[in-house]
Amino acid sequence: MAKVKVSFEWLSGCSGCELSIVDLHERLLAVLEQIDIVRLPILMDVKDYPKAKLGIVTGALRTHHDVECAKKMRASCDAILAYGTCGVYGGPQGSGYAHAQSDLAETAFVKNPTTSTHFVPDQGVPKLLEEGVLPLDAAITVDLYLPGCPPHAYYVFEALRSVLDGKPPEFGEHNVCFHCDRAMKHTEVAALRRVHEGTIEKETCFLAQGILCMGSATLDRCRGACPTRGMPCSGCGGPSEAIVLEPNRDIRTEIATRMSMMTKIPKAKITSEIEKQAKTYYAYAMASPVFREKPTFLLRRWIAQQGAAR
Ligand code: SF4
Ligand code: SF4
Ligand code: SF4
Repeated sequence: MAKVKVSFEWLSGCSGCELSIVDLHERLLAVLEQIDIVRLPILMDVKDYPKAKLGIVTGALRTHHDVECAKKMRASCDAILAYGTCGVYGGPQGSGYAHAQSDLAETAFVKNPTTSTHFVPDQGVPKLLEEGVLPLDAAITVDLYLPGCPPHAYYVFEALRSVLDGKPPEFGEHNVCFHCDRAMKHTEVAALRRVHEGTIEKETCFLAQGILCMGSATLDRCRGACPTRGMPCSGCGGPSEAIVLEPNRDIRTEIATRMSMMTKIPKAKITSEIEKQAKTYYAYAMASPVFREKPTFLLRRWIAQQGAAR
């Protein structure tokens, strides 16, 4: 049987998504028996865009060059998979949304005392997008979305299997809490704290201990990697389906409602803390239009207020 041609492109990302394909371990050998990789910038020096059945695109749109490359992938591939939180929502690069592009360039190239070039380079470098950062589907039509920073091998395999077998993927719609055994329970905790402050009960939900955890508002494309290993979730898988699909639901209200019901911490205090740390708690998806229709359209203001308060 002829192998399925698969083409890769990486835009503005960190290469973690490409490395996550190696996490397939032995299953990678089975996959490679069925696919023919015609383009993979991390391993192959292929400058053109060969025809392929599946195009896997990692990274966000950060520059005009990214947009050009995304369009070439769309034109050369039958189907496009936005792979990783960057491609789906903007990912960590999305924090660029919080600032004007000119401010970011000035800070990196002129104001930084250790790396200053005293000018912002504009020759031989890709021009940043005026919009800041955009997810892949802002420039091209996307057929499949696989968020995760990077996605867990379980979902990577399922995505590839679905394409190879021509069947819809069986991903499920769970949030991170689905994979976490910590008990959600009522406590007398009356103050917020950070994860490094005090001791942590291994069997109790972080929220019940006064520690912010984004698990209930985050899609499970990591299979609960952090809370099952002793750390709260910071939302790198992107928002849960409920938050994406329901206009009146948002990360900060979702977490604050749940946490205030388990503890003695007032909901308004929790909401306010998440707004203060918006650059952390909205980091992975703030570039996505998903949040433009919610009260989070105020994200830039919250972040600017924190900057002014410092
Ligand atoms: S989604 Fe995460 S792992 Fe993938 S490219 Fe973006 S930052 Fe890297
Ligand atoms: S909020 Fe965090 S700690 Fe609590 S159950 Fe969900 S993932 Fe586990
Ligand atoms: S638990 Fe949360 S922060 Fe950790 S890998 Fe999963 S989605 Fe990302």
